[in-house]
Amino acid sequence: MTTYAVSTPLPEFGLWNQLEGKGIPVSFDLELTARCNNDCRHCYVNLPAADRDARAGELTLDEIVGVADQAVELGALWCVITGGEPLLRPDFSEVYLALKRRGLLVTVFTNACLLRPEHVELFRKYPPRDVEITIYGASRGAYERVTRTPGSFDAFLRGVSLLEQGGVGARYKAMALRSNVNELSAMAQFGRAHTKDFFRFDPLLHLRYDRDPVRNAEICAERLDPEEIATIEQSDEERAHALRRECHRVAGQEAPDEPDLVFHCGVGQGFTVGYDGSLRLCSALWHPDYVADVRREPVAAAWRRLLAAAGAARTADPAYLDRCAACGLVDLCLWCPAHAYLESGSLTAPIDDFCDVAHARARVFGDPDAEGYGAGVRPNS
Ligand code: SF4
Ligand code: SF4
Repeated sequence: MTTYAVSTPLPEFGLWNQLEGKGIPVSFDLELTARCNNDCRHCYVNLPAADRDARAGELTLDEIVGVADQAVELGALWCVITGGEPLLRPDFSEVYLALKRRGLLVTVFTNACLLRPEHVELFRKYPPRDVEITIYGASRGAYERVTRTPGSFDAFLRGVSLLEQGGVGARYKAMALRSNVNELSAMAQFGRAHTKDFFRFDPLLHLRYDRDPVRNAEICAERLDPEEIATIEQSDEERAHALRRECHRVAGQEAPDEPDLVFHCGVGQGFTVGYDGSLRLCSALWHPDYVADVRREPVAAAWRRLLAAAGAARTADPAYLDRCAACGLVDLCLWCPAHAYLESGSLTAPIDDFCDVAHARARVFGDPDAEGYGAGVRPNS
């Protein structure tokens, strides 16, 4: 008798485990554009939809196909199409099909506002691994307070219903912001009612890749207070459960063997190709020492060069060695060199806003007496 596997969750897929630690970039992100039809207050990337320079600098379809061929050659199995808003590209369908023809699993991140019947038809014929849709509010008022784009709420609802009528499942997520926090539970309800599997929200806002001071001030104004974050996380059963587990895992965790290494994370397990051909080891890592250009250097050579540079990076910065490198809470604050650079211009500076969130989470979810929670104390806190 022949047995067929109907479906296997990706993390349990046998090939995944076999690829771990083999020095293969299993997945890559493709930022088709930095432009967006919306103008969200918290967005770390968006440029106006009509920005001519940004549009002129975007990789062409041929260049994208070249990147995909090289990524597949390197062993990549999975591509995440993102932006800006990727559906702004008139050749979105051609890009999508080119990736599918190369056998890649494809995930599409979108705000859903620009979805049209032809996209839904494309997804029906050639299914994506996932379509992930961000919700900015549960009512027109909150949604458009965030997107600053009149008509975007109706466009979002239209996109959601087109996908549902076409039988294309999507996953939903949200950012918890000052402008929409009053509707977070309604957004969660919407997300859970429409998602194909789960809904998640994220309260940690990252600063802009271009370090624009005006836009960064807008992002900071949208950040929730640390105690507020811990409280809303506590009221969400799924998230509270995950954080409680994480708190117990980090308690008593030993300091790393080589604390002066800058990158302790899994940076370089994949890579990101930006709209302008920039190649980074992860989407947030914009430090110039770790950015290459696929228009000038083959993908494999660029990825290996940057990976070697990241692996060799060490620091004598006391702010890092005395605080973050020895901190038991790092997994609760999500400190990382890429975000440290975006916040302060230094790859090794602590991030005070994230630090306060980590301590608030430990107070709410952890055992304050447990070993490990005392490390990484913010001076004067
Ligand atoms: S919809 Fe997404 S890409 Fe567009 S501005 Fe909002 S957060 Fe940024
Ligand atoms: S909690 Fe604070 S000290 Fe610890 S890693 Fe995060 S920023 Fe650094």
